[in-house]
Amino acid sequence: MKIEFFGATKTVTGSCFLITTNGQKILIDCGLFQEDEKEYLNYEPFPFNPRKVDLMVLTHAHLDHSALVPKLFKEGFRGKIITTPATRDLLGIMLFDALKVQRNEHYKQPLYDEENIQKAIKKIEALPYGKILTFDGIYIRLLDAGHILGSASVEIEINEKKIVFSGDIGRTGYPILRDPSPPEKADFLIVESTYGNRLHKSLDDSINELLQAIKDTFRMGGNVVIPAFAVGRTQDLLYILNRAVRQGLIEPINVYLDSPLAEEATKIYLSHPEVFDDEALREMRNPKKTSLKLHFVKSVDESKKLNNIKSNAVIIAGSGMCQGGRIAYHLYHNIDREECSIIFVGFQAKGTLGRKIVDGEKMVSILGKMMPVKAKVYTIGGFSAHADQEELLNWIGNIKSKPEVFLVHGEESVIENFKQTIESKLGLNCLIPDRLSSYELK
Ligand SMILES: [Zn+2]
Ligand SMILES: [Zn+2]
Repeated sequence: MKIEFFGATKTVTGSCFLITTNGQKILIDCGLFQEDEKEYLNYEPFPFNPRKVDLMVLTHAHLDHSALVPKLFKEGFRGKIITTPATRDLLGIMLFDALKVQRNEHYKQPLYDEENIQKAIKKIEALPYGKILTFDGIYIRLLDAGHILGSASVEIEINEKKIVFSGDIGRTGYPILRDPSPPEKADFLIVESTYGNRLHKSLDDSINELLQAIKDTFRMGGNVVIPAFAVGRTQDLLYILNRAVRQGLIEPINVYLDSPLAEEATKIYLSHPEVFDDEALREMRNPKKTSLKLHFVKSVDESKKLNNIKSNAVIIAGSGMCQGGRIAYHLYHNIDREECSIIFVGFQAKGTLGRKIVDGEKMVSILGKMMPVKAKVYTIGGFSAHADQEELLNWIGNIKSKPEVFLVHGEESVIENFKQTIESKLGLNCLIPDRLSSYELK
């Protein structure tokens, strides 16, 4: 049995791994490379033959795991895709949105077309958490990874050897979703390392900070602008704000969700209560309680009308790093007003407008105009959907069978650091695979 690594090696994005055994080939994830210097890899042919792959398993709908799936079909893959029902539904909106983004990058050809996406969606066989799928003597089971709606860790058992792919692991005690359920046994473990070197701020502190920032801004007579990713972070924020209103921690505030993708994703979240935790289920079954005043902003015209609102509005819009999208207009109309605030709740990559604002630049270019940053800027770090070092160690430590560990999905320095931590705290042997490397699993 052999494993090959095609992405997320010494880097965070581009997850893609291939298992070959008994003449069968199983691909796990097929994600987009999102780092600037690795983006060219998306345009190269796959380093394996998609026609020869028998089956693919998808951990979750984030684009760094899923966005090259339609390209697999374009290049001749004909097998099934195994993933959870919720991931299937999210993919139905996210891949089309990814294509739209590709088409807006005028200098490049899109990676695939609508037909490739439709083919991919049609080939999905949904597998709920905990159910076992048998495929030619191979057993596959998905475990709840608690990261975004539908996210899974993958157990594959072949010839009595168990290989586990963690996928992206979520946090414990995070709202909406249940906590991650770690596997009990593994002979080989391929595990993510995104925050393998640090601890998150507590979620309660972050929520208090968020509520205080909104109250302070409203008192000053301004608006709150929150750039957020449409899938995952936006639903977390809506849930957290709504719960705060119900608990009487804040008045029933007006929240404008200015992102058609986020609206669709929110509906998909609401259609999958089977993966909610107990608290989220109770909240959902109690619609009569007071709640925040949520407005879905649909057309571009409606979005522009928001510019007339000068105070007491929370505006959530994409993109999450302020690179284009509707958020640009809201920043344009609020960033030079000192009574307003901009709240960052997610990672801002180097070079993005979001990063420049977070780094405290006094003048930034928005929609082609240099604007002074007068609004108050908050960076609230505790809303990450990824496990931190302690949570990752607990998850791995749950496996009592001393697996051989492959560390992926992290920046190189983070992975190196995490390797030492695992070796010293858990006494497990860790490998850091390179892209295109392959290992015999014995
Ligand atoms: Zn993810
Ligand atoms: Zn990821």
